[in-house]
Amino acid sequence: MSNKQTPDNKAYSDFHLQYIAGEWTTGQDDSVNTDINPYTGDTIVEIQQATDKQLDEAYKAAKDAQKQWAQKLPAERAGLLYKVIEILDQRQDEIVEWLIKESGSTRIKANVELATARAMTLEAATFPNRVHGEIRPSNTPGKENFVYREPIGVIAVISPWNFPFHLTQRSIAPAIALGNAVVLKPASDTPVTGGLLLAKIFEEAGLPKGLLNVVVGAGSEIGDAIVTHDTPSLVSFTGSTPVGKHIGELAHSGDYIKQLALELGGNNPFVVLKDADIDNAVKAAVFGKFLHQGQICIAINRIIVEDAVYDDFVERFHAHVKTLKFGDPSSEDTAIGPIVNEKHLKSLKDKIAKAQEEGATMLLSGEIEGQVVPPHIFTEVTANMELFRNEIFGPLVGIVRARDEKEALELANDTEYGLSSSVFTTNMEKGLRFARGIRAGMTHINDITVNDESNAPFGGEKNSGIGRFNGEWVLEEMTRTHWVSYQHKPRDYAF
Ligand code: NAD
Repeated sequence: MSNKQTPDNKAYSDFHLQYIAGEWTTGQDDSVNTDINPYTGDTIVEIQQATDKQLDEAYKAAKDAQKQWAQKLPAERAGLLYKVIEILDQRQDEIVEWLIKESGSTRIKANVELATARAMTLEAATFPNRVHGEIRPSNTPGKENFVYREPIGVIAVISPWNFPFHLTQRSIAPAIALGNAVVLKPASDTPVTGGLLLAKIFEEAGLPKGLLNVVVGAGSEIGDAIVTHDTPSLVSFTGSTPVGKHIGELAHSGDYIKQLALELGGNNPFVVLKDADIDNAVKAAVFGKFLHQGQICIAINRIIVEDAVYDDFVERFHAHVKTLKFGDPSSEDTAIGPIVNEKHLKSLKDKIAKAQEEGATMLLSGEIEGQVVPPHIFTEVTANMELFRNEIFGPLVGIVRARDEKEALELANDTEYGLSSSVFTTNMEKGLRFARGIRAGMTHINDITVNDESNAPFGGEKNSGIGRFNGEWVLEEMTRTHWVSYQHKPRDYAF
């Protein structure tokens, strides 16, 4: 990728500051967020964290700024988003480097992430001109019904560390395009790529002060307060299911009930039926499992293979996985980089031990060095094992044997989650039947579970969350519906 930065377009700096009310300001809390490069262990930046009072200032600024922003002409709001896209293009190398050093993204993943965020920004730029109301018939004589669609107001955004740039941008770009303001809390592992870097970009694009606030703070200090504060009308949360459940309770416990968009964990099945093109299925399974070390909510979590082709699939999958390069995420050909932090690394070590204890066959393993976990393959995994039941979020995979198509579907659905899923078959009718039998928000036939298109509904059901991102789904979520009626002729009331 070429470096498009010009001498006047210096790399952004001062990431030790908060972005509140359009000013870069020092956090007032005693605690510090130490942002660490997960591959080298080096400290990238230390951020003095924000207090509750600073969060309150952010909300106040957002509330004030939103009123004027909502009055802007659609073309002005769209224009700002197009300017953001220009900056994304100019600064693509800078953004990719940040993703590599802060979130341990491989170069391949960082480029995928930037492209996905760019596509969502482009989609969001169309939103100001796509908001429309309706005129509905009335059963009351002389009445006319109008349905208006208005900005929802201030939106609280809480984002995770795994695809920090995209998963934050997919909330803030539509929010702002639709006339809302945002108070954002990025994940502690990715305060820059999940927030401060986007603030720099929107600021450079000319976003009015106060519309986007990035508050970096400890969960214990501001985690709950960002949700329970009176100002936000919608809480857009992307993260784990346990925290999402907590956010859901909080959002309905304060003085005002908040609307909720919850994008939570997954346990995504990748099913290979006996008539599948095995070579294609293997290539897809390897990429869909190991991209970003498997730390993706829509990553393949369980590979379910019909008995007739199980051994063949396992052999070819094993052969391909053995060729993957792991280690330095900045190398062009590294497929598997570091795990995000020590706590998560520990949970993966525990999962490896548990899989062996439970009797899965460890077909491939390797030495863990620093925070880099080489790919691990377990075969003969069954539905009672932890690898099957829980989200792995790492480069470990269990392969499950299914007697036939019927059992494969039962296994695919044997989970509390319902985010993404895949099925491989060369028979389209069978593929569609199988896909529609899966209880999930997304199913891809003959492709990986990892798909995100800016105009297709992204989201899950069951414990994977509520609501949908992208296209008209997020457009509706981030606007409010207002029924206004006009009584043209006096009504005949009963008394
Ligand atoms: P997490 O739930 O630990 O954290 C997510 C965010 O919530 C972070 O910003 C964190 O600081 C914040 N948070 C934590 N406790 C909080 C509290 N009490 N109040 C308010 N905020 C709080 O998740 P994570 O480890 O950052 O991300 C990984 C998880 O996210 C996985 O389960 C993954 O499946 C899920 N995820 C889902 C999607 C999706 O679109 N469905 C996308 C990416 C990640």
